[in-house]
Amino acid sequence: MKNIIFIAPPAAGKGTQSSLIEEKYNLPHISTGDILREVSKEDSEIGSYLRETLSSGSLVKDEIMYDLIENRLSKEDCNNGYILDGFPRNVEQAKKYDEILKRLNQELGYVIVLEIDEKILEKRITGRRICEKCGAVYNLNAASQQPKIESTCDQCGGRLQQRNDDNVESFKNRYQQYVEKTEPLLDYYKQQGVLYVVNGNGTVDEVQQQIINILEKRGGNI
Ligand code: AMP
Repeated sequence: MKNIIFIAPPAAGKGTQSSLIEEKYNLPHISTGDILREVSKEDSEIGSYLRETLSSGSLVKDEIMYDLIENRLSKEDCNNGYILDGFPRNVEQAKKYDEILKRLNQELGYVIVLEIDEKILEKRITGRRICEKCGAVYNLNAASQQPKIESTCDQCGGRLQQRNDDNVESFKNRYQQYVEKTEPLLDYYKQQGVLYVVNGNGTVDEVQQQIINILEKRGGNI
């Protein structure tokens, strides 16, 4: 299996889709947002920098990302492919990632972009809840993604929490960062012939099927 990069605006479902693909193809799911949220709990200078940056919705400094990503991709579980959820996030990071791939003797693989209407994203952001124990994702604003028992994870019984950057103000900044810094990546990867576009407006299952079609070669390279 080749490596997969997911690119999408905030709350478009890249975390959910990455987890499903992780399970189906047994590939490690590397979410830079999850890693940063863990480090942000530390009582240290970097912890405090990350708490502030993440809650504002701005991007973390590139230099912090490079060591973090190279260390993670050097681990043995990445030897047979992995899913990158949240990196690269701008063209500078993509160029640095090309160098990291060379050093690790890895190939770029698939770059999959989830396209979705901005109006849908804002609704998803305010309804998103995440299990503090197992990380399962729910959405109070989507009938098919609500927990069976209020505030409780269906899978492990853990408590559901709201991310502190899942509010309208932070969303606006995150969306703007996506348009200004992340979207230019699409041209970068289109030119390399590795970009695949998925319509992210459908249900979780519909979006997943489109991704599987690409990975199992029933989709078209654009
Ligand atoms: P996510 O979980 O992907 O929505 O990411 C949450 C937050 O983590 C983002 O709003 C950024 O502040 C930070 N972040 C995640 N990945 C990166 C990255 N590759 N570069 C810079 N900041 C990042």
